[in-house]
Amino acid sequence: MNEYDSNRIVDLTKKINFNLTKNIEEANCYILNTCHIREKATDKVYHEVGRVKKIFRGRKKPIVLITGCVAQAEGDVLVKKEKYIDAVIGPQSYHSINNIISSLENKSKKKNFTEFETIEKFDTLNTVKNSSNKISSYLTIQEGCDKFCKFCVVPYTRGPEYSRSISEIISEAKQLVQNGSKEIILLGQNVNAYEFEGKRLSDLLISLNEIKGLRRIRYTTSHPKDFTDDLILAHNNLRKLMPMLHLPVQSGSTKILKDMNRNHTIEEYMEIINKLKTIKRSMKFSSDFIIAYPGETNEDFEKTVSLLKDINFINSYSFIFSPRPGTPAANLKEIDNLTAKRRLLIFQKIAEKIKKNYKVGLINSYSKVLFENKVKDEFKYFGRDEHYNPVIVSSKSNLVGKIRTVKIKKCNQNTLFGDIIFGNKAIEYAA
Ligand code: SF4
Repeated sequence: MNEYDSNRIVDLTKKINFNLTKNIEEANCYILNTCHIREKATDKVYHEVGRVKKIFRGRKKPIVLITGCVAQAEGDVLVKKEKYIDAVIGPQSYHSINNIISSLENKSKKKNFTEFETIEKFDTLNTVKNSSNKISSYLTIQEGCDKFCKFCVVPYTRGPEYSRSISEIISEAKQLVQNGSKEIILLGQNVNAYEFEGKRLSDLLISLNEIKGLRRIRYTTSHPKDFTDDLILAHNNLRKLMPMLHLPVQSGSTKILKDMNRNHTIEEYMEIINKLKTIKRSMKFSSDFIIAYPGETNEDFEKTVSLLKDINFINSYSFIFSPRPGTPAANLKEIDNLTAKRRLLIFQKIAEKIKKNYKVGLINSYSKVLFENKVKDEFKYFGRDEHYNPVIVSSKSNLVGKIRTVKIKKCNQNTLFGDIIFGNKAIEYAA
C-alpha cells in the first residue's frame, strides 16, 4: 500500500510542478513514506534523515516530510526529536501535501498533519490521474481496519475501515489499463471487508473482470472472518481472477487465535481453504505467521507446524512476535528469546522445504507468464505466473506486457527459469 501511496504523492505534487528525481542531491523536497509494521521502524526514520542531513551539509536544506504510519504513530515525537524534519503527515492526510508544502514555504508553525480524513483523501485522489504505467499496478480499494488484533498497529495508524465507491475504482482501473497495466492488484488492509452501498468485493471483481485490456486481477490482504461464499464462487466464475490467495492465519492454534482476537477458529480457516480447493483445483495459498506469541505452548506451536504441512503454503512469511507500542499485546509477557528463536528456525526450515519441493515439482511443467520488465542482463525478461511465482526467460523479442506459455526448466529457492513455447500444441498447465 505504501508503494501505491508513494505513487499517488508523486501524482499530487506534479500539480505544484514537483517531479521525481533519482538524484537525491538535487531534491528540493525529500519525502520518506514509512511503514510501522516491522521492528525498529522509527529508528530507521532517524537514520535516514541523518543521511539526508549529511548530503545537504553546508547547503540549503530540502523540505523534509515524513509520511505514512510511522508519522501517524509517532507524530510530534518525531518533529521534536529531529529538528531537520519539517512535518509529519499521516496516511489519511497526504492528499493535503501541496498545501502543507506551501504552508511550510510560508514558515507555518504547524508540523503535525495526522488527522483521519479518509473520505476527503479519496475525493482529492479521484481528481488526480493515476500515472502508474507498470504492467502490474496496485489499486487501493479499502483502507483501515476494525478488527483490532491484539498485536497490530493498523487500526491506530490507518484508522477505521473505509471502502471507495465501485465507480471510483473502475475509473482508476481503466486509467491504469490505458497507461499500459495488464494486471491490477487490489489493496486493502482488510480487502475482503470491502463494502460499498451493499456491494461486496465479489461484485467489484465481477465489474473489473469486464474491463477490456485488463488480463489479470489479484487482491490482498484478506481476513478469514470476511471470507464469504460469494468471494469463493468468484474464484470459479471469473477468468481473470488469479488462482492464488494470501490468507494470513498467524497461528495454527485456535486458543492462540482467540488470545490474538483474530475472531475465527482453525476449523473455520480450513473450511475456507477446502472450499476454494474444491471449487478451483489450481488454487494455491500463502500466509503470515507470528511465532512465539505470548502464551504459545509447545503444543500450540506444533499445531502451527501441522497446519503449515497440511496446507502446503507455497509462501510463508514468519516472524517472532515483537510488541508494538500502544497495542494490547505490548503488555503481555513475552516468551524467552531462545525458545522463540528455536521455534522460528524449525518453522522456517519446514516452510522453505515445502517451497523448494513445490518449485522443483514445477520443472518440466508449463506456466502462463505475464512479463513485466526486461532484466538488466540483455535478452532476459522477468514475469510472474498465475501463482505469482517469479519467472525469467531469454528472448530476442520484446515480451513486456505479453502473456506467454513457458516450459519451466530449472529453479532456485525463489525464481523459476524456463523457455517460451511457440505454437498451439496441447499443453497441460501446472495445477
Ligand atoms: S485484521 Fe490485519 S490489519 Fe486488522 S488488526 Fe488484524 S492484523 Fe491488523
